Amino acid sequence: MTMGCTPSSHSSDQTGFAYGCAQSSHSSGNEHDYRRTSIELNGNHTTTVCNNKEMRESLNSRMNILKHDKMCLNFPNVKVLLVFDKPDAQCDALKWAAEKLSFETYLCHNFESAVDCYTEERHHLVIIDSRHSSHMLDASSLCRSIRNIKGSEYTCIVAVVKRSLAEKEEAGVLPFIRHGFNRWFIESYNLGICLNELIQLENNDIAIQSKLKASHALFTALDYCKDGVIVTGPNHDIQYLNQAIEKMLGFRYEEIIGKNAYDLHRSDSLKTDVVDSINMHINKGKEWEGTIFHRRKSGECIPLWSKISPLEVHNGIAEHLVFIKEFPYYSIEKMFSPDGDVLPYTYGSIKSTRKASYDVKSLCSDVGLGRRQSFAKFHAMTIEAPITKVINILMATQENSPVFVAQALDKVLEILKNSELYSPQFPNKESKPDDQMASDLVSGLMSSGTKQSGVRRMSHEAASNKSSVGGGGVTPQTPTQLPSLSNVPNNIKNLLDKDSDWGFDIIELERVSQKRPLVWLGLSVLSSFDVCRTLNCDEITLRNWLTVIEANYRDNPYHNSTHAADVMQATAYFLRKPRLKTLFYPLDEAICLIAAIIHDVDHPGKNSAFLCNSNDEMAILYNDISVLESHHAAHAFHLTVGPNSDPINIFKNLDSETYRDVRQSIIDMVLATEMTKHFEHLSKFVHVFTKSVSIEEGLIGNVGQSGPGELETVPESPNMITFSTPENIVLIKRILIKCADVSNPARPLDLCKVWAHRIAEEYCNQTDEEKRQKLPVVMPTFDRLTCSIPKSQIGFIDYFANDMFDAWDSFGDFPEIAEHLRSNYHFWKELSEQNSNKDIDNNNKDKERQS
Ligand code: AMP
Ligand code: ZN
Repeated sequence: MTMGCTPSSHSSDQTGFAYGCAQSSHSSGNEHDYRRTSIELNGNHTTTVCNNKEMRESLNSRMNILKHDKMCLNFPNVKVLLVFDKPDAQCDALKWAAEKLSFETYLCHNFESAVDCYTEERHHLVIIDSRHSSHMLDASSLCRSIRNIKGSEYTCIVAVVKRSLAEKEEAGVLPFIRHGFNRWFIESYNLGICLNELIQLENNDIAIQSKLKASHALFTALDYCKDGVIVTGPNHDIQYLNQAIEKMLGFRYEEIIGKNAYDLHRSDSLKTDVVDSINMHINKGKEWEGTIFHRRKSGECIPLWSKISPLEVHNGIAEHLVFIKEFPYYSIEKMFSPDGDVLPYTYGSIKSTRKASYDVKSLCSDVGLGRRQSFAKFHAMTIEAPITKVINILMATQENSPVFVAQALDKVLEILKNSELYSPQFPNKESKPDDQMASDLVSGLMSSGTKQSGVRRMSHEAASNKSSVGGGGVTPQTPTQLPSLSNVPNNIKNLLDKDSDWGFDIIELERVSQKRPLVWLGLSVLSSFDVCRTLNCDEITLRNWLTVIEANYRDNPYHNSTHAADVMQATAYFLRKPRLKTLFYPLDEAICLIAAIIHDVDHPGKNSAFLCNSNDEMAILYNDISVLESHHAAHAFHLTVGPNSDPINIFKNLDSETYRDVRQSIIDMVLATEMTKHFEHLSKFVHVFTKSVSIEEGLIGNVGQSGPGELETVPESPNMITFSTPENIVLIKRILIKCADVSNPARPLDLCKVWAHRIAEEYCNQTDEEKRQKLPVVMPTFDRLTCSIPKSQIGFIDYFANDMFDAWDSFGDFPEIAEHLRSNYHFWKELSEQNSNKDIDNNNKDKERQS
């Protein structure tokens, strides 16, 4: 037999072909393709010659490249199998057409030879004579048999049917389709009809089958790739998943095909903001990337870097998605044993068994570049807040860790998910400060006025009782004799000469200045820092301002203008230290001093909790949030830049931008004095400071490794230049004013004792008032009958002062202050012990008397 253009791939194995089917023998030379038309039919030799030149040319110009998306396929040299139990005109006509198109043509006359021939050749097209059933050839069962052969899904099978069957008004084609035929061909011996039918088959069915065959190659490629691939339909139903997904998630194909792709994600990791972000991207036809936690079949969760690409967006909704799950930087096989137990996982070689705990340094140094990039992506997630990133990293670590680490991390995550990150918690008796006095003080200072049980007053009562809260009003008071550095009385001048000493006697200044220490000390200190020059204001304005601010401090035992003067003096002391001098510009110094001066202005002598519990107007105005600090800042600015304030407006000559910066910075410092935020400010400062020193010393890997609740060790001798970023300056200013604000326990003992009595007096006044008004008692131990000042001081130093002054000393070099704090602490300790002994003695005497 002769055949058309025989594909080279078949040239050798076709030589021995003998299954009762015809095999062409070919003549050589491409230019003669259309002439190689003779077909050997079971020994009969027929030659057909195409003489039509036009047809020859148009047939020769048929496409030979088939584009399938980005795939570029060669149009196949079509192989056709004609199955006719005996040659007839129909068979000849089709054979003629096939040869005209240079199809590689095979002819079989019985069932077995057809199956064998197909098995060998996998023809693109099989045409089966179905006009009549004979014992030799049952068309339907032949079709089914061919369909049972692997790869036959890419073959187009055509039934030749009688015209009379086709012309019946019924769906006669259906049984053929059910048996596996693609279509039918209504018998016709007309050569043109046969030729055109084959051309249509070639360009539609055969072309499509070729593309499907090529897609099969792509699926095979996807199964070999390491990253997981999932394709979903309109309702996120999984239409395809590759082997990598099975491996990563531990599910078998049948278990997840058709399921919703989102069910594979750990539900609590898909927070609404993540889902929103995904939808926002994909519904606009854009790709989304990020880490998604997935649930494995065995229950563990793994974070996988995922890309979600929409293939089709319909009416603003993405249908058909492709998910690519990047193969994790850790090895799934090493992580999970076959039965799903979590194994301690290893990086790289078996030898490099990872230590049980997670640290950033080991992650960054142990792993190769690829892993580092993957890890960097965890950090690069822009849609999440820093705390969410931290939580994600910990969750990732948790899922890859041995059980005991995972359990510890559970507790860490629990704490991190709680918003009160920096507030110490006393969940049980043991972790409370053992002394009730101290614990009362701590919770009193840390509570921002949560409503406790007790009778609440009506707001109109609070308003009508406002005058009882403290002295002084908001009206600026003009003193009779205006102070000035040029007319400073001698007794005051003698004191002011020592205004840069840590032991400066502010209590004596309060006495000799008749409770106007702030104006005198303010003039002296601000002039030594050249604040008038910095603010471009005259001394009279400054003096007026100080006078008005001082007048707006109420006559409280503790929160009075002497406290403001004291805090300003401590601030100035800090600013004069060489290490801090290098950090601050004159404007920063002015900001710090002004913030200290105003930081408690119009303090009512009661804490925020009291104001909230009593429905005070201030609490209502500030929604129970940072009530006092908000009020101090607002009140001071109202006085300074409010209506008719020109004579006292120290900021009036600043340009608007500078004024805005100055105002923002002052407000930030005043708000930082809120004790409920104490641990937050201190932790941030210590962390940043530690980090910058570590970078300097090449110790960055140690950052953040202190245990929960522990402050990181503050290193020595920082290089202030590397530390002085604008963000860090904000943190330093906060700690500076905080240290100044609570510096009284670190002053020389005589001063320290006065302040301790004053604060206790103020607290006790509050307790009296709470009892009188039947309000919740915020600090019950500050009852003037039972109050122990030494114990309150021990508690305050233990819980608030020690760590902060330690950090501050390391940072700014204030050993003398740390030393005062230490010796005062011992003083209070001894006094406390003496008092307890006395109490015991008195108790014993009482008992003796009673007996
Ligand atoms: P401020 O109200 O701005 O002065 O914030 C500092 C807070 O720390 C004060 O309200 C006091 O409650 C508290 N405080 C300062 N010094 C002491 C001390 N020696 N003993 C107890 N509490 C203190
Ligand atoms: Zn204060």
